[in-house]
Amino acid sequence: MSLTKYREKRNFKVSPEPSGDSPAKKADRQLSYVIQKHRATQLHYDFRLEFEGVLLSWAVPKGPSLDPSVKRLAMQVEDHPVDYGGFEGVIPEGEYGGGTVMVWDMGTWTPESPDIAEALKKGDLKFTLHGKKLRGSWVLVRTHGYGSSSGKSWLLIKHRDEFASTEDIVATEPKSALSKRLLADIARDSGGDVEKASTGDPNTQTRAAGRNSPTKKSTSTKARAAGGKKQRR
Ligand code: MN
Repeated sequence: MSLTKYREKRNFKVSPEPSGDSPAKKADRQLSYVIQKHRATQLHYDFRLEFEGVLLSWAVPKGPSLDPSVKRLAMQVEDHPVDYGGFEGVIPEGEYGGGTVMVWDMGTWTPESPDIAEALKKGDLKFTLHGKKLRGSWVLVRTHGYGSSSGKSWLLIKHRDEFASTEDIVATEPKSALSKRLLADIARDSGGDVEKASTGDPNTQTRAAGRNSPTKKSTSTKARAAGGKKQRR
């Protein structure tokens, strides 16, 4: 576990991302877990588990699924500093990973077998997530990749338990677990590309059409009259 690759790819004079120079505190605390939704060249979800002072990291193009019958491709990428897990903001365009980053989920994780290093070596890591959005038992299984992806290609799968569901959680829970903002809000607040960021948010045009915008006024009047009907934020 080393941050050499992480640092090689980045210019910390230009990007606000943490350099990882402040060593991870070795207090007797739980291992952190985070998923960062990242609107870079392609939208993806960076799945990170703390281990031995760094965040082991996988890029999951479609994000996690709560459905145990769905396997999500997870490409292992370079280890990240532990304090990277708190990073939400904009990586300047032209820099490595340029685009908007959201802390989509955060919490802690516990391995389901005691030897994490051995499980990683075997390519079969079972663990429990204690996040704000993701809970319960999951597994990362290494699969056969080709060429440059050889050894880097894993599958992220939900185990069957009370937290398994067919709910499409990346669609139903699009906001930051840290700040409740959408990608476009984060881009706007940090001087990023709002239009690019918004393509990673739920389709607002579809939503507006569903609300039948021409009769918006009468709809909201009706909603008020009905009382207790919450306005969509
Ligand atoms: Mn990323």
